Parts: sequence; structure tokens; C-alpha cells
Amino acid sequence: MNRTNNRVRILLLNAALGPLDYRVPDGMQAPPGTIVIAPLGPRKVPGVVWEAESFPSDEIAFKKLRPLLEIRDVPPLAAPLRRLIEWTAQYYFASPALVLRMVLSSGAAFADSRPIIEYRLNGNIPARMTPQREQALAKLKDEQGTISELAFKADVSVAVIRGLEKSGALDRKEISTIASLSTPQADFGKVKLSSDQQRVSDILISAVKASTFKTYLLDGVTGSGKTEVYFEAIAEALRQDKQTLILLPEIALTEPFLDRFQTRFGTEPLAWHSGLKQSERKKNWRALADGQAKVVVGARSALFLPYKDLGLIIVDEAHEVSFKQEDGVRYHARDVAVMRGLKESIPVVLASATPAIESRHQVEQGNYELLELPARFGAATLPKIEALDLTQNIPAKGSWLAPNLINALEENLDKGEQSLLFLNRRGFAPLTLCRTCGFRINCPNCTAWMVEHRLTKRLACHHCGHVMPQPETCPECGDEDSLVACGPGVERICDEVKMLFPAARTAIVTSDTIWSPAKAGEFVAQMEAGSIDIVVGTQLVTKGYHFPNLTLVGVVDADIGLEGGDLRAAERSFQQIAQVAGRAGRAEKPGHVFVQTRMPDAAVIQALINGDRDGFYAAETESRRIAAAPPFSRLAAIIISSEDNAEAMETARLIGQTAPQFDGFAVYGPAPAPLAMLRGRHRHRLLVHAHRAVDLQDILRDWLHQLEWPRAVRVGVDVDPYSFV
Ligand code: ADP
Ligand code: ZN
Repeated sequence: MNRTNNRVRILLLNAALGPLDYRVPDGMQAPPGTIVIAPLGPRKVPGVVWEAESFPSDEIAFKKLRPLLEIRDVPPLAAPLRRLIEWTAQYYFASPALVLRMVLSSGAAFADSRPIIEYRLNGNIPARMTPQREQALAKLKDEQGTISELAFKADVSVAVIRGLEKSGALDRKEISTIASLSTPQADFGKVKLSSDQQRVSDILISAVKASTFKTYLLDGVTGSGKTEVYFEAIAEALRQDKQTLILLPEIALTEPFLDRFQTRFGTEPLAWHSGLKQSERKKNWRALADGQAKVVVGARSALFLPYKDLGLIIVDEAHEVSFKQEDGVRYHARDVAVMRGLKESIPVVLASATPAIESRHQVEQGNYELLELPARFGAATLPKIEALDLTQNIPAKGSWLAPNLINALEENLDKGEQSLLFLNRRGFAPLTLCRTCGFRINCPNCTAWMVEHRLTKRLACHHCGHVMPQPETCPECGDEDSLVACGPGVERICDEVKMLFPAARTAIVTSDTIWSPAKAGEFVAQMEAGSIDIVVGTQLVTKGYHFPNLTLVGVVDADIGLEGGDLRAAERSFQQIAQVAGRAGRAEKPGHVFVQTRMPDAAVIQALINGDRDGFYAAETESRRIAAAPPFSRLAAIIISSEDNAEAMETARLIGQTAPQFDGFAVYGPAPAPLAMLRGRHRHRLLVHAHRAVDLQDILRDWLHQLEWPRAVRVGVDVDPYSFV
């Protein structure tokens, strides 16, 4: 027997190490893609058998190789997925092991098919009570989960939950990790499409049938039926017995989506997001890997899962920046979705009412096919958008809503219709200031103000999560009653609404209040039941939702988005306001939108009022072209951070000084990052700008790999950055 056939290269789930070679024991079969357990020192580490030629050679002599320990009884990772892992690692400067971790979803893949043990309260009261036990008993009333999940939900230590179990307060339940799913039915709740919808749907159906790679930009105004249309493509994939992946930008959107999917296909799709319990995660992973799950809907992490037979990928609300992951592997799920489509030879649909300039550019380049749905479905018309000039229509002192908007809210209340106020700021006030000494309360770990959250009576840092009780005296000068809240957040706007309309039923919708799909489900149910009159929300309410009785939208501050000034500020403002406006008047009743601004003549506002989407895009694209900004060039950010500022600065300077010189390649910086301190680490940035023809990654790799810096310094590369802080 040829001994080299018994040598395999394993990509281990250990980011610190490169792939290592192992020996396959006699009688074991381990072709590429096989999921294995390998010895590493005294430990057993999971890994995947890889093609040796994908990684630099491992010089260890055959006779020194350690044998693999076992092969897991799960489907091997297919070649297209292995190629996607390599591409993602190389494009985004990540270790392949980190990307592999997303595929194997932290262990879900390695667990065997034994059931998971979950616990729930059984009503017994333990003989000995402690404050922690009491807290757990109160918080876990309707919860069931593993010991650690319950500890997390109750905000107590694992030992407390173990103690409760010993004292007989918890019942033990075996949860099977074998899914039993019903298959969605292609023709269950078929709707009759309009002729525009039919035309687009026919194209998508042929694409699914053809089963070749192609990217479609499904561009249709809010409420035009994009979802109904891509449902037809999913129906075709079901007929072909192929799997479909639908990516949504927020997990909060999955719950309403599940219902809608069920109406159309008779059963729910499989959900994948960070809110899943361990038992669900394990079950779902297996169900999609063995092909039992035909349709999976999920947040961006669903993109890397090992589908058995993927036939279609849909990215809904494809313009959303939340598809960009900002830590770990800094990938953009929209772009990786297209790459996965290429590797798998399947169509990819990017759906949006406000496509990204990047996506439109791909259409212009002939890379994507544009599919348009120009009008709202049925009797629904696009809402009338009106600017409210805050310098003319001035809010009362200490309040934020202009008189015209207040009148409109009042009329809408009288009509029994629902209203939405949009402000993209969580909490009560973004800044707390001392009137006496001018002190501003900052986060101790970040260059950021502490945001007041009045509902929880705390100040919180939105960057690192640091919280502190609301102080009663100024931390600087000690004066009493001198602290004032500056500026509004959604909680403050909601207070104003309650003062104006004490009888109105209000709801605040932010990631603080809607932190799970179940919470989102409750909110949707309340809206549909008509038990909410006025919603005050952040970007979380701008997308996806469809509330027929919601007819008035007020944008509290249209100018906020333009403040940051990064290259996509105008585009993002436009998208956000167009999306939130799109929540109004989605059914028979017409919608009305008021946009509060101090700059009614700004191009963004004018485009919104005049419904001149194409004009706005054309002007914005042209200004990017002139500035040689993406998509007409490529960017990468290099972020250097350390707890020791001198070390961080020194490393940043070293990187800056050794920057290579090429045509069409320029390096700016280093400079302290706008967010100069984050989670206690000092941050410096460089920005790399390159012509599209330049191989940015190659240059960066050659440049950075020859440098050395202190161990405590972290150097991260953000390719195609969306955040510039
Ligand atoms: P979009 O995804 O473009 O925002 P939706 O697919 O959510 O649009 O459609 C908006 C509303 O119109 C939804 O309630 C949807 O069920 C309804 N609708 C769209 N097309 C049809 C159709 N052909 N038949 C019946 N209802 C439709
Ligand atoms: Zn902080």
C-alpha cells in the first residue's frame, strides 16, 4: 500500500496553529472533507481533512505522524464549501480555522446524536433560599434549557442552578437532537402574481431550474412583492428537491418571516441564529447537513453552514450594513453569499428596495442581472413624504417633535390608525452633562459617552457594554442636581409622546426591548391586534415589517446619519429613511411621512421628497466616481490596538513606514482612530486605497507578514470596511 495515501493534512479547529499532517490508521477512510478528531499534545481536537495542496507543506516525516483518533459520523464537508472557506480566509485575512469554526458552529457538528439534557422549574421550593435562588426562581418561570443556558437567562452562576437541581427544584428532560421536520409544500398557499411579479418570477424559476451561478438584483419598492416573488423561486427549488438559504439582516425579523413562510408553504422553515438553544443548534445543524431541512432562514452566520444540496441563496434587505461582521472574521455576508453561489454553481438573489451603490454598480458592469418591480402591489401606493424644517416649524422648548408632526399624530390617533416615530438612538439621552462644571460622563474603557437608559436607571456604553448606576451627584465636582440629559434617545421621545397623548398606547422597539425572535413575535402580535397606537423605534423597525394599519411615520432627526461623514453616510441616510417611510401605508390606507430636518435642501432630503431615487443614486454614484471611492476602488483598514498606547503607536508607525509603493496603491495614516479607545485598548488606524486592478490582499500579506510587533499588540485588517471608527 502506498504510504503517502495514509498521510492527511488536517485543518484543526485551533486558530493558533496552521494545518497539520496526521496518519490515517489502517482500516480508516478519510477523504477530504471528513470531520475527524485528532490528537494535539495531550488533547483531542476536532478538524477536517483537507487537500494537502491547499496549504504549505508540513515537513514532518511520515513515521513521526500521530494517527487520527476517530471519524465523526456526520456528512463530510463538500468541495465547494471547502473552497469557500479558503476564499473567505484569504480575502478577509482570517485564519482558515476561524472560518471553519463558523461552518462547524462551535461543536454542534461534533456532538454525537445523544440527547441533550435540559431542565425546568417544577414548582418545588428549595428548603434553603438565597437571593440568587430567588432570582433564578423568578426569572426561569417559563424557561427550559441546559444548566448553563438557565444560568445565563437567570443571570446567576452555574453553581446556583446546579444547587437548585440538587435540591429538587428542577425537572430533568431529555431532548432529542434528531429533527423531525415536515417538508414545505411548493404549492401550498400559492398566490396569483401581478404581471410584473410574474415576469420576474419566471426568470427566477428558470434560474433555479438551470442551476448555474448567476446573481440577480431584485430591486423593487417597499411592498412591491419581492418576498412573494422570491417565494416562487423557493417553490421551484423545492420541486427540484434542492435546499434554499434565506439570509435576513436581523434575527428579530425571523419570527414574522416564519409565519409568512408558513402561510405560503404550509410549514415553517428551519431557523438559524445566535438565539438558538444548544439542543436546537445541534438538531438544526444535522438537519441541514443531512438534507432533511429544505429551507433555512437565518442571520449571516447561516451562510457558512454545510448544506447538503443547496440550490438557491436569497439575501433579503441586501443593502443592510448589518450583513457586515465587525469582529472575528470581518466578512460581508452579501459578498460571501455571491461567492458561495459561484462555488456551488447556483443562483443568488439580492433583494432590496434601496440597493447598495456597490450592487447597482455590479449591474452596470454586467455582472448582476437587474430585476425590477416598479410599483407597490395592489391598491397600495407609496406614501407621501414631506420635510419638516425644524428651523421654521420649531418644537417647544425641551421637546423634539415639531408642531406639524404632533398634529398629524393626533389626527392619526383619532382615526384609530397606527404611527411610528423613528430615531436611531437607543436609551433616553446620548450624553449626561454637569451644568456646574461641564463634565461629560464618559465610558472608562472607550472614547464614548455613557448613554442614559432611564427604563433600567443605568448609564451604558454602547461600544463595550460597561454599565453604571445613574449618579446623583457629578462625579467630577460633586455638585448635586447638576447633571442634565442632553439630546434625545427613543425613551425620551416616548416620554414626550406620553405627555402629549396620555391615552395613547406606546411601545419602544430597540435591541434593548426586542432582543429575541420571540420578543419580536410578541411585538408583531400586539401591532396586528391593534393594541399599540404609537411605536418609537430605532433602525430595528425600519425593515421587513408589514403592518396594514400603520399609516404615519415621523423621522425625528433626518440629519443624524449625515454627521458621521463616512463615504456611505448619504447613501445610508437615504436607505434608512426610504425603508422607514416604506413601513407607512402598505395596504389600502395611504401613508404619510414627515421628515424632521434642519437641512431641507440637502440632496438626500430632496430626493426622498421628490421620490427621485434614480436621481439620488446617479448623483451619489458620480460623486464616488470623482472621489475614486468604492466601488470605483478598493479600501482596506488596518487597525492596531493595545492596552499600551505607546506600543500601539509604535507598531502603527512601523506599519506606516514600511508601506510598499505601487502604482494605484496608497496608504493613509497612521492616525488615532476616531474611537481612540475601545474596551480598554488604544486604537490606531491606517487606510489603504487601491485601484481595482491591484491585488490588494497580496500586497497587504507580503507587507504585514515580514513585520513583527509585540505580542500584546493586535493588528487587524478590515477588507472593504464599512465602519471607519
Ligand atoms: P416587499 O417584499 O417588496 O416589501 P411583500 O412581498 O412583503 O413586498 O408584499 C407586500 C404585501 O403585499 C404583502 O402583504 C404581500 O403578501 C402582498 N402581496 C404582494 N404580492 C401579492 C400577490 N401577488 N397576491 C397577494 N398579495 C400580495
Ligand atoms: Zn465602553
